[in-house]
Amino acid sequence: KRRIAIMTSGGDSPGMNGAVRACVRMAIAKGCEAYCVYEGYEGLVQGGDMIKPMKWEDVRGFLSEGGTLIGTARCMAFMERPGRLTAAKNMIMNGIDALIICGGDGSLTGADKFRAEWPGLMEELVQKKQLTVEQVAPFRQLNIVGLVGSIDNDLSMTDATIGCYSSLQRICESVDYIDATAQSHQRAFVIEVMGRHCGWLALMAGVSTGADYVFMPEKPPPENWEEDLASIVKKHRSLGKRKTIVIVAEGAHDCNLQPIKVSKVKDLLAGDKLKLDTRITTLGHVQRGGQACAYDRMLSTLQGAEAVNAVLDAEPGIPSPVICIVENKIVRRSLLEAVAQTKEVAKCIERKEFDKAMQLRDAEFTE
Ligand code: ADP
Repeated sequence: KRRIAIMTSGGDSPGMNGAVRACVRMAIAKGCEAYCVYEGYEGLVQGGDMIKPMKWEDVRGFLSEGGTLIGTARCMAFMERPGRLTAAKNMIMNGIDALIICGGDGSLTGADKFRAEWPGLMEELVQKKQLTVEQVAPFRQLNIVGLVGSIDNDLSMTDATIGCYSSLQRICESVDYIDATAQSHQRAFVIEVMGRHCGWLALMAGVSTGADYVFMPEKPPPENWEEDLASIVKKHRSLGKRKTIVIVAEGAHDCNLQPIKVSKVKDLLAGDKLKLDTRITTLGHVQRGGQACAYDRMLSTLQGAEAVNAVLDAEPGIPSPVICIVENKIVRRSLLEAVAQTKEVAKCIERKEFDKAMQLRDAEFTE
């Protein structure tokens, strides 16, 4: 029986449990044996009972649980070849040659590196007499399939990552709470949201809550943003708006790549020109937590099932796929290309090619 392992890696996101559940059950339904690797690559390097066989009922109730129940970690050892050698040995000792990883671009990059090195790792294990030729013989090829778990929606070539809509929902609810008090006291709030180098959460939160101003990395504000912000806020106030909401992505910067700090935005709103009673709210980790929204439960289930199909369809020499969603269809894309395009966005931002950065993000993001 084919053995397929699933792990979650990197930052946690709501919906990761749904992906684990779908992979385990689809693997079993397809006549394979399902395994979970606990604590991301750390579990793969440590081996032992960090790699566990899973039964159908072991993932019962996973759909509605937040975070990741099989744990996640950042693992320095896996960044180095000796760590990956140990990981490869642990996989073979468990008879596993297919690995589904639900994580961000870092985790997916690591996975593809592991796949590319696999034949060399097998040779080294035999050479170092850690395993025999007979032991490695059935494991000539490593199958890797990626699932994108991230609240940031920062991977190119997919419209949504598992977790981003849950996080957006949480941000919207939080802004609604803040709205009520802001409105009562006629206050201004500067709200910092997560997203690392990606402005999707900030922009979509701004759209969804009718914020007055949004700062995001891919499309920095005009050079004279202080005046721009002041005049927009002034105009909204003159139209009778009793509150002001400014959303700042954690990776926001101006067009010269200088970080835009929430404290600076606050000082501006509170300063002589506007004189607004202004508060800062950093939403922080509530954005990651809690139950997955219906969309993420659906996405993780459909994509998890497709990941198992992709493992079973894999042919030698065909590059590792990542399971994406494009125009509402679950599709497979080249994992390496998706990661490369994501990295290209970051490079465009560094080169101040902001229009190109926007184009390379997802379709709904472009205009
Ligand atoms: P994310 O997957 O959310 O982007 P990280 O970038 O922290 O998060 O990656 C998670 C883990 O994936 C790292 O701790 C490391 O173990 C592994 N990893 C990331 N990048 C690489 C790489 N270039 N080579 C090998 N392993 C990597």
